[in-house]
Amino acid sequence: MTQPALDLVIAALEKIRESSDRAPRASRTMLGRLRPANFAAVSLSAALELREGGRETSASPMPRRLQGALSKAQLLEPIRERVCACQKCAHLARSRTQTVFGVGNPDAELMFIGEAPGVDEDQQGDPFVGRAGHLLTKIIKAMNFAREDVYIANVLKCRPDTPSGTFGNRPPTPVEMQTCRPYLAEQIEIIQPKVLVALGAVAVEGLLGSRRTMRELRGQWHTYSGIPLMITYHPAYLLRNQAPSEKRKVWEDMLQVLERLDRPITERQRNYFL
Ligand code: SF4
Repeated sequence: MTQPALDLVIAALEKIRESSDRAPRASRTMLGRLRPANFAAVSLSAALELREGGRETSASPMPRRLQGALSKAQLLEPIRERVCACQKCAHLARSRTQTVFGVGNPDAELMFIGEAPGVDEDQQGDPFVGRAGHLLTKIIKAMNFAREDVYIANVLKCRPDTPSGTFGNRPPTPVEMQTCRPYLAEQIEIIQPKVLVALGAVAVEGLLGSRRTMRELRGQWHTYSGIPLMITYHPAYLLRNQAPSEKRKVWEDMLQVLERLDRPITERQRNYFL
């Protein structure tokens, strides 16, 4: 099958998946036959629910033999291309400067998830590049990582539009997040970080579909697709609320992340913001 034909099949499967309670299915054998066209198989496996020996498997894991054929960076590339061309939210596709796919190390053990690009991200094409992004970079450095060591992505890949002539950003709507979420799910499926960190309640809602308060959610381990998930405040919250006690809460969450990753923690690190 040619690449344009496969793109059409993938788009049709995604449409079925979005509009139906039951995901389209294919057997592992059939998917395996696409092995020579690995890029297509990657996208197809994300759009399909797999079935093995008559037994359904959990939500669309890509066969490991296909994953092993390409690097994670190569596996992410066709998803980036689909995001770049995506028009699923016509209003956002019209208003965006560009899509914001994600940035960092595709082999990262730590992945941060935010809600949506703001005006700076829309201009520059990378997530977390504004004031909140600078603070996130500081947090990452305080954890003894470089920003390039981790992977950073948003639930939404386009900036939520705002009325012309107005300033600032708006949070994404539940429908926008639901529409875009499959791209993030594919990114996580490929990157397979050891730990995910969701930044803020909107990111959590986009990721888990949960609408609980940060007070209920943060500081505890959750799970997303079998991956440990830490929920903490969005850096923008820390910019609005500079109290050391709030910084300490975020830092305590990051200490838990470091422990989970078996990273060494110095006494100085343990005592930040005390
Ligand atoms: S927000 Fe996501 S789903 Fe909507 S147009 Fe942008 S890339 Fe497509």
